[in-house]
Amino acid sequence: MSAPASECLFCKIVRKEIPAALVYEDDELLAFKDIFPQAPVHLLIIPKAHCEGLGDLTPEVAALSGRILQLSAQLARDHGVMTGGWRLLSNCGPDAGQTVFHLHFHLLGGKPLGGKLC
Ligand code: C5P
Repeated sequence: MSAPASECLFCKIVRKEIPAALVYEDDELLAFKDIFPQAPVHLLIIPKAHCEGLGDLTPEVAALSGRILQLSAQLARDHGVMTGGWRLLSNCGPDAGQTVFHLHFHLLGGKPLGGKLC
């Protein structure tokens, strides 16, 4: 199901081995445009350190959760969706449709978002 960090797609983006349209980078976090956008604004926010997802948080990545939330709000503002509304979500496991097993948060906005489940 999950790839080792050396083969992980998003680790390869972190190491700049495969390209991505980066919109933010610091020592701990990376954000880039989703290659199959589901909304006018569709960004992915990831920790640089590998962990599979929310069910596999290492202490190092768990400590970044506040920064991830702050960055999501900053990016929502920077990409013009703060007023209209936006959504932050992380698919965790097969029933949720997770396809890349490196923790990531989808930031979606720029249109009315359907599929509200809760
Ligand atoms: O939640 P899930 O695991 O399905 O999300 C993975 C996301 O990674 C997808 O939205 C997919 O379009 C995106 N992706 C990407 N760049 C890649 C490979 C996947 O933006 N090179």
